Amino acid sequence: MASAYDSNNASDWRLVENRDVPEEVGRILAVLPSASIVVDPDGFVIQASARAYALGLITRNSVAIKEIVAMIERVVLDGETREQEMRVRRPPLGRELLELQVRVADLAPGRILILIDDLAEDRRVDAVRRDFVANVSHELKTPVGALSVLAEAVQSASDDADQVRHFAERMQVEASRLGHLIQDIIDLSRLQSDDPLLHAQVVNIDDVVHRAIEDVRTVADKREIDIVVACDPENFVYADFSQIQTALRNLLVNAIAYSSDGTSIAVYSRAVDAIVEITVKDQGVGIPTNDLDRIFERFYRVDPARSRVTGGTGLGLSIVKHVCQNHGGECTVWSEAGVGSSFTLRLPAYVPDEVVQAELEEGLAQMLDSNGEAQS
Ligand code: ADP
Repeated sequence: MASAYDSNNASDWRLVENRDVPEEVGRILAVLPSASIVVDPDGFVIQASARAYALGLITRNSVAIKEIVAMIERVVLDGETREQEMRVRRPPLGRELLELQVRVADLAPGRILILIDDLAEDRRVDAVRRDFVANVSHELKTPVGALSVLAEAVQSASDDADQVRHFAERMQVEASRLGHLIQDIIDLSRLQSDDPLLHAQVVNIDDVVHRAIEDVRTVADKREIDIVVACDPENFVYADFSQIQTALRNLLVNAIAYSSDGTSIAVYSRAVDAIVEITVKDQGVGIPTNDLDRIFERFYRVDPARSRVTGGTGLGLSIVKHVCQNHGGECTVWSEAGVGSSFTLRLPAYVPDEVVQAELEEGLAQMLDSNGEAQS
């Protein structure tokens, strides 16, 4: 049997305990753009597409939206296909509004099919893209302008070797800033245009945290900054691995950039109800309370001069925010100027089928036990 852990492809269907639907049906559903779920008459999820998981429509092998559950119950009763548009909060955090077109049909005896389209997605992407272009053109002008001024300075100081060296060094700094900016712009526009969850898979938090730390290891070592990790090895999310790695890397880059040499950074994770929390905590300069609301905006910097020195682009945290939104999560921040900051990614938890099964069995055993006690 295929394991849920093998799944790294949008067309992959997760199989639950030999209760799969016919293979050809699975193949047809996999090529449809809609999110799809097959349940049994009790509402237990038998198979579902990656997109359905990614939109947060499933928790612990049940459909997470009560309006859809009600439609399923009606279809189970009379076998009639139902279609409905609905505005619902995206589970599990409920921060985002989804506009869904839902169709529920009797697929085969004991098998109900649910097809779901997210109607608001195109509108959301367009709005974000429009104001992003406006911001970017403004930001690109700064390093390009600096390079042009420096090139003129080199020309007029051509007889003075020291001056030429000095201006050339500054040109290198500006060119590298431009390079970082372009890379961040590419990352951000990819996040905004691709269907980010096409590459969703089961991601172990401990793995992705270690990969992100490897990305910043050289810089941290150079600054003698220690990174301490305490991640629960049982924490999983259903996500695009590289997006989560990018978000964590950006948080780590900031934690290093805004801390003094020889300090420590802690990275830890835990599961709270249906959410996995991954925190990056530093002992750095901190962020004044007044700025906390704005730091996730594109190109917002608390101290533009310092950001220029650290080579910051002002896009790092907007990338983090987008990654979280794409996964139906959020990023929260706690900070105190002079004490440090702590950023937490909160993402919908993925609960492996074995765990759900074990919990069901444990619940059943407890029920039988208490029945036994009541009778004796
Ligand atoms: P930048 O590239 O300027 O670091 P970000 O979007 O990553 O841009 O962050 C926005 C601003 O938030 C930064 O300019 C900085 O002022 C503040 N900031 C982000 N992370 C931290 C941190 N760990 N400690 C202190 N300030 C931070």
